Formats: sequence, structure tokens, C-alpha cells
Amino acid sequence: MAEQPAFDVPELKPYPVIPKLVEDTMAHSQPFVAKSDFQGPLGFPGELVDDWQDVAVKKMGELTDRYRSLQVFLDSCVKCGACTDKCHYYLGTTDPKNMPVARQDLFRKVYRRHYTFAGKYLPWLVGAEDLTEEVLDDWYKYFHQCSQCRRCSVYCPYGIDTAEISMAAREVMDSIGKGQKYCNEIIGKVHTIGNNLGLPEPALVDTLEGLEEEIEEDTGVAVKFPVDQKGADILLVTPSADFFAEPHVDGLIGYAKVLHEAGLSWTLSSHASEAANFGMFIGSYENMRKVALRIREAALDLGVKRIVFGECGHAWRVAYSFLNTLAGPFDFLDPNYPVPQHICEVTHGLIQEGKLRLDKSQNDDMVMTYHDSCNVARASRMGDVPGGQFTIPRDIIRASCNHFYDMPADTVREATYCCGGGGGLLTDDLIELRVKGALPRMEALKQVVEDHGVTHMAAICAICKSQFAKVLTYYGFQMDQIVSVHQLVSNAIILTGSEQEKEAELSEAA
Ligand code: SF4
Ligand code: SF4
Repeated sequence: MAEQPAFDVPELKPYPVIPKLVEDTMAHSQPFVAKSDFQGPLGFPGELVDDWQDVAVKKMGELTDRYRSLQVFLDSCVKCGACTDKCHYYLGTTDPKNMPVARQDLFRKVYRRHYTFAGKYLPWLVGAEDLTEEVLDDWYKYFHQCSQCRRCSVYCPYGIDTAEISMAAREVMDSIGKGQKYCNEIIGKVHTIGNNLGLPEPALVDTLEGLEEEIEEDTGVAVKFPVDQKGADILLVTPSADFFAEPHVDGLIGYAKVLHEAGLSWTLSSHASEAANFGMFIGSYENMRKVALRIREAALDLGVKRIVFGECGHAWRVAYSFLNTLAGPFDFLDPNYPVPQHICEVTHGLIQEGKLRLDKSQNDDMVMTYHDSCNVARASRMGDVPGGQFTIPRDIIRASCNHFYDMPADTVREATYCCGGGGGLLTDDLIELRVKGALPRMEALKQVVEDHGVTHMAAICAICKSQFAKVLTYYGFQMDQIVSVHQLVSNAIILTGSEQEKEAELSEAA
């Protein structure tokens, strides 16, 4: 069980129940502010600048000029209310400022005051307001209660994307010296060391050697985790959580077994040892680009032909949607493969070609469900057919397990709920928000546990896995009920020359 929290954990109800709003329930919640040590290296002022109102308003204008979509989103809301009950943070906290439209309005009212005719001359008529200390306070609190999951945009008749407004608000705050410690510290580590954990190359190599020994002991097969191997065909870029934490590391073992069994030549890179790109969470194109360029540099240096991403939701969004813009062109790679590819696409392709043997019974101790990670579901695709980001991971699970049940339809696929820890909120200073934001997913999980005896939930996102490992216990589940999709593949795969292969041959002969 989780330790006794300092806040009330919401009660699990039959899904879905829309709660009545209660003002200011999360007005006390805000993450630690970044100190100058974390601000400076990212190109931001170390503390709140003297003329912060003027700088912020100017930055807001720059961003609406730069991103046409942002201006359209700010201009086009008709207050229809369709988004109000769609955010997991509203459902879990009941705070009306966590309704997507109200969150947007925190930014919109200042935009209107300075960038619209009516707002300049008749502010009271259009809800326009100056950027006061109180407004800035609300920005810092409530734009750090949005995980940029885009669920609200699915239900908005105008497709208004609160995630983009939240990114812009965070970028404005960084530009005046009010950045968030968790994100900015991590981005700094990637710039200097190459990964979110600050794991230097010797520690990385040491960890991977340990995994090689573990697999050989377990299966009798020498599966390798090559690092910085020049001339390898595939550069695997994976979230650094895969290198050390459960259940992430079991997924990494799964990728390695798949690549080994398929006879593919691959390598990790110590220079680009991180798939995550927190530059997106703070809305900073420059920092996002700097992080992405490490991948290009590693690919060129190692002379690889393909780039494959491991299980990480927002990393796949950055890779799928922006990698070519940020760090392309990738004309030096093999044109027969998409740039980039997801490990699920690779594994799925190999399963379809009959190149992997999977013994589903190895996962018979689990009854599975699947959590669609928001960035994969609503901000990317997989494969070459629409909806591949939903079908490919499910196909892999079904190929590896005998028992699989989906959660309620309005909580999965495009309508999936965020885990509650995305968008740069996976930090202990926001634990109350994380627990409460997980409520809709926990309620949907409870339903399949009761209806079908589901025991485990799989995901393909490092943040989802870390978040669930922490918050499941608050709702009476066990932390090990969250697993990696490739952990299931790892359990089921029959490696050539393994003990499992011999056993399978013997039982066939008998
Ligand atoms: S993007 Fe997600 S977290 Fe943000 S307001 Fe919309 S539903 Fe809520
Ligand atoms: S659904 Fe769209 S238009 Fe309607 S209130 Fe929400 S953001 Fe505004």
C-alpha cells in the first residue's frame, strides 16, 4: 500500500461519473520553480525579470505570429462547453480551472487585452485582463495541471488544442524567468550528458552488461546490448528509464531479444542515450531541436541505416511529428524504411513475416488490458494504415498472450485518458495532482478487473509506466500490475538455442 497521503484520494466510482465543480480545490498545487542554475543553460533568465509583464506580452505576440494555430485557437473558442468534462484533471480534482476552456481562458484573457481591438478598448465586455501577479500565479499553477494530452481537442468542435496553449504559456513563463524545476533540470542533463537520468557512458555500459548476463543465465542465449557500435544497421533510441527501472527494463530486454532473434544488427548510442524530449513540454523549439540533434549526430557518427524508437509516448510524438523538421533531412538513411520507426512497428512486422516464435502460454499468469498513451494515440501514428497506433500494440499483445480485454470504449484509443503524469508533471512535488488525475483511468481499469478478471495493464510509454507504478497503490492495486508491451514479448519469445526452444521441441516430440 502507498504511504498515508496528505490529501484525500478520490473514491473509485463506476465509470463515468462527472463530478460537481468545487472552486479552488487545486489552487495550492504548483511545482517547484527552477533556480538560475537550471534556467541559464537553457537560455532563460535565472529569475523573474524586472519588466516581466512587458516581456511576457511581447513573447505572447511573438508566439502567436510564429504559430498560426495558436492564434486561431485563441480566437475561435465559442464557449460551447463541450470540453468541460473531458479533462482527467477536472474529473479527478473538481477544480473548474481544470476545465480545458477555463485553462485556455487564463491565457486568452491576456491575449485579448493586448492583441484584439475589443480587448484593448472594451476589456470588460470580452473578458480581457491585464497580466497581473495574480494572473501569473494562476498560469504557473494551472498550466502545470495540464499534461498536454489533447483529449479535450478531440471533443472540441473547432479542434482547439489546449496542449498547444499550455506549451505557449510555459514558454512565456520561461522567457520571464519563471520556469519549472523538474523539466528544466532534466533538459539540462540531456544537453550535457545525453539522457534524462544523467547516466554517464561507463554506468550505461555497466548496466547493459548486467542485462546481458541476466538474459544468458535465464535463457542460455548470448543476447547482446551493443553501445556505439559503428556500422550497425539500426540505431535504437530509447527512454533512459528503460536502463534501470521496473517495468521499463523488461521492455528493453524484450527489444533486445526481438532484434537478436531476427538477426538484425543494432546499437545504442552513448551520445543519444535518451528518446524523451522534454523540450516539447516547455514549448521550447530551440531546446527541443538541440535534444533532437543529438540523435542526428549519433546516427551520422555511427553510420547507421535506420533509426528505431523504444517505448516512450511523447518521444514518439516528437519523433513521428517533428524529427524531420527538427533534425532532418535524413537522406543518409536507408530509404526503404520510414524515418523514424517505432519498435512496435519492427516487432509487429517481424511477427507478420513469421520471423518470431511466440509461446503465449508463458504469459498465462496474466489477464491483460492495454492503456493507450495519449501522445501515441492522439499525436502520432504507426504503420501504414489509419489507426495503426491502436491496432499494432494490441496485435503484439494478442500474439504474446492468451487473455486480453479492452477497457471501456470511451477510455481507450483516441478517447484514452492520460495516466495523470504526462506533460512534465511526473514529479513528486505534484503527487496529489498525479493521483487525482489518474482517477478516470483507475475507474476504467477497475471495471475490467471486475468484469473480466484483468490482472495487468500494458503500456508503451515510459511516463505512463512510472506514473502507474506509483499511483496504482493509492487505489488499492499493486505497483507491478503495470507492464511493458515488450515485456510480454520477452516472456513469450522462443530464442533459437534457448532452454525454452529445447523444451518446446521435446514437448512437440512427445
Ligand atoms: S490537454 Fe489534456 S490535460 Fe490539458 S486540458 Fe486538455 S484534457 Fe486536460
Ligand atoms: S469545446 Fe472548444 S469551442 Fe467549446 S468551450 Fe471547449 S475549447 Fe471552446
